Amino acid sequence: MILVIKLSGEGLAEGQDKYGHNKLHMISDQVKTLLGHGHQIGIVVGGGNIFRGKDLSGNLGVERATADYVGMLATIQNALVLRDYFESREIESRVMTSIAMPQICEQFILKRAKRHLEKGRVIIFAAGLGAPYFTTDTCAVQRALEIGAEILIMAKNGIDGVYTGDPKHDKKAEFIKEISCTEVLERGLNVADAAAIGLAKENKLNIKVVAVEDMSKALDLKTGSTVSPN
Ligand code: UDP
Repeated sequence: MILVIKLSGEGLAEGQDKYGHNKLHMISDQVKTLLGHGHQIGIVVGGGNIFRGKDLSGNLGVERATADYVGMLATIQNALVLRDYFESREIESRVMTSIAMPQICEQFILKRAKRHLEKGRVIIFAAGLGAPYFTTDTCAVQRALEIGAEILIMAKNGIDGVYTGDPKHDKKAEFIKEISCTEVLERGLNVADAAAIGLAKENKLNIKVVAVEDMSKALDLKTGSTVSPN
């Protein structure tokens, strides 16, 4: 099965460190298990552990588009680190970026991406969609559609699925096992940003929301929450 995993930048961080060894080790273990099951894997990595466009937009004279490009560069940094970590653990990987950077990684080209997947290489998609005003959530849905993934796995930090509120702050927040994209949008639930959910709905992409530690079990019915594309 072709799987796309959305990994937030924060999922790589540990305490004050932008990259936590335990986190990278755990993520690569999860990826190894999925590869061992014969899946082809693309990872869309965020940049939130380093920079998010909206944190700087409007400050210091920096325009929103510029701030977003800085955010995209952060995702490239994460992708490079992730690739080398994976390779150090014998997971063959390639970084493919939406912003040309020939000195450091390949540009995203669909046919080449498919070839990498067929050869068992993990692709780490960097620089989101290469356009401001988007996030890597939307990129994850778009890449999943483009490479023909059967499912998009949203790997979350410190949360194991979809809840009615933020369980870290709201003790009454309840776990939701199954929900539709329409309901996620209507209730404003924190699954992914609205543009991403809208794109998944329109193009009938299935989404599974799991804790990052449970990525390898994401296809089990018991694990996480399912977001159906209706
Ligand atoms: N970004 C963008 N276009 C994209 C993807 C990302 O402009 O297609 C910028 C945006 O500023 C975003 C930042 O890159 O805040 C980092 O991505 P994101 O916030 O999705 O990372 P995450 O929160 O998942 O770590």
